[in-house]
Amino acid sequence: MLRRTLLAAAGSDRTRALVERSPGSRQVVKRYVAGPATDDAVAVADALIEDGLLATLDHLGEDTTDANQAILVKEAYLLLLERLAAAGLTPHAEVSVKLSAIGQSLSSDGEKIALEHAHAICEGAQRAGTTVTFDMEDHSTTDSTLKIVAELRRDYPWAGIVLQAYLRRTEADCKDFATPGSRVRLCKGAYREPESVAYQTTQDVDLSFVRCMRTLMAGEGYPMLATHDPRLIEIGGALAVRNGRGIGSYEFQMLFGVRPHEQKRLASAGERMRVYVPYGSEWYGYLMRRLAERPANLGFFARSLLSK
Ligand code: FAD
Repeated sequence: MLRRTLLAAAGSDRTRALVERSPGSRQVVKRYVAGPATDDAVAVADALIEDGLLATLDHLGEDTTDANQAILVKEAYLLLLERLAAAGLTPHAEVSVKLSAIGQSLSSDGEKIALEHAHAICEGAQRAGTTVTFDMEDHSTTDSTLKIVAELRRDYPWAGIVLQAYLRRTEADCKDFATPGSRVRLCKGAYREPESVAYQTTQDVDLSFVRCMRTLMAGEGYPMLATHDPRLIEIGGALAVRNGRGIGSYEFQMLFGVRPHEQKRLASAGERMRVYVPYGSEWYGYLMRRLAERPANLGFFARSLLSK
């Protein structure tokens, strides 16, 4: 119930204005977001890599309804990729991109514009010597996102896709995407979805995650297991052993600010561990989804909002 309310608030302009104006929100944001500028993202990636971790950087923003804004986001990624390469952080640092931030949701030619911008970002990544993973958003965009990534993979076979275990369709998608070299991030899914398309209980989502993981780990692609869930991480490790997957043939991923000690523990144990680092000023939707996942953080959030 609380999760649904928070996810509804993620789309509310009124709540957004209230939260963004609050002086205390900065404190909460700092925990999950690198900072507003490109340099902040590069500095956090540098520190993570120094600690033996990998990074994927996300320029915050989604559901762009303005074609010029989509161009600005594309340019922000190109600048970031140049800076990462200049700092010697590629290929340990890559980027994550939301297609809706680069035009997918524009009413006219959205898909075509997003594909063009995504193509340019992939070209920039190739120049920088690294990769791009395309985030998955709500279920109304799944087909379009899979289609765009399939198209990009003709030129950039390393382009990564995200599949969400809460969607009923995902088990079948995992079979289709467990092909040689295919980089697939598996996550539970972070949006408010109807029962017709998505499992609604924690148990059903977790069971689906395990089935999807089995398919991906037994397949020929490169699975990227994105979860903080200790049980699923343990099962992921066991599946690597069962399928004879050595280090470097799969990786774990977690979000910046979530279970940092566990991130370092896995890296010290020799696992490839990538941290998803958001940066930029458009943090509202991202933060509300993180709170929906962990309502235990709400007390901290409420206190921060009220503080000066
Ligand atoms: P949860 O059910 O949230 O948590 C399971 C368990 O993990 C908890 O019971 C607890 O033991 C532990 N845990 C979780 N959070 C904490 C915490 N803060 N502190 C301590 N323990 C904790 N979603 C999308 O829809 N599209 C995407 O493209 C996408 N990309 C992602 C990329 C990465 C790298 C990651 C890590 C997540 C991504 N997500 C994405 C979000 C994802 O779908 C989930 O919403 C999010 O990861 C929470 O799910 P979980 O698997 O950690 O499990």
